[in-house]
Amino acid sequence: MRPLDQKTALVTGGSRGIGAAIARRLARDGAAVAITYVNGAAAAEAVVRAIEGQGGKALAIRADNADPAAVAAAVGRAAEALGRIDILVNNAGIFHAGPIAEFSAADFDRTMAINVRAAFVAVQAVLPVMPDGGRIVSIGSNLALRAPTPGLSLYSTSKAAIAGLTQALARELGPRRITVNVVHPGSTDTDMNPADGPHAADQRALMANPAGYAAPEEVADVVAHLASPGARSVTGAAWTIDNGANL
Ligand code: NDP
Repeated sequence: MRPLDQKTALVTGGSRGIGAAIARRLARDGAAVAITYVNGAAAAEAVVRAIEGQGGKALAIRADNADPAAVAAAVGRAAEALGRIDILVNNAGIFHAGPIAEFSAADFDRTMAINVRAAFVAVQAVLPVMPDGGRIVSIGSNLALRAPTPGLSLYSTSKAAIAGLTQALARELGPRRITVNVVHPGSTDTDMNPADGPHAADQRALMANPAGYAAPEEVADVVAHLASPGARSVTGAAWTIDNGANL
């Protein structure tokens, strides 16, 4: 018996990086998994095939986080295909950095729509199809908690909002035994933040162990724990995985 046998999950932005690792991990733990993507149809299909190749059930749904109707529709499609949604993982996000003076109102709206509003809408849409005892896990960032370099006004604002949403929802959904938690990755080796990228050395300099970029699978391990029956008493919590960069 695996911890998530008979469970179903929806992971936004599951075609690549951290979201793909989460989808694969939840499937390995027994869950049937729906993932969303915006451009990466081939990558999303590859994640689905990998899960199916291990004997699991998965499907990919195109849904742009910038479009609230598309996010709500994706939740509906996933629930229809899987029967219900026991676990929602709000993972899809973008990173847009720069001096505050150079951001337009449209830049602000885009980041907030993709990183924050989509999570809000996904929760609204999922609650009618999530049984009591469900799980909501959102991917924040260690940059929600500290700003070690300039240029983070937009991204840090969006991720701090996710932290606030998590606490408010944990309180509100407690009576239904739905737990709501946020995982704050630090530097994690993905297309968004490659371990050999131009800004990697600056990030390593902040870490307790300078070799310490995380693999996406390490974030997935924590999400899998929070999604598991054993984490039933963990709610409103934030778990940072950043090799001590925020110390
Ligand atoms: P990647 O850029 O590697 O992957 C992003 C994923 O999100 C892809 O599956 C992408 O789909 C999807 N996505 C992007 N924009 C949208 C959109 N508008 N609508 C729907 N899906 C979208 O990012 P990471 O895996 O690194 O990041 C995942 C999460 O982790 C993000 O929320 C990020 O902010 C956070 N994070 C990442 C850190 C890091 O160091 N990597 C550190 C801290 C937090 P597609 O393939 O279709 O483009």
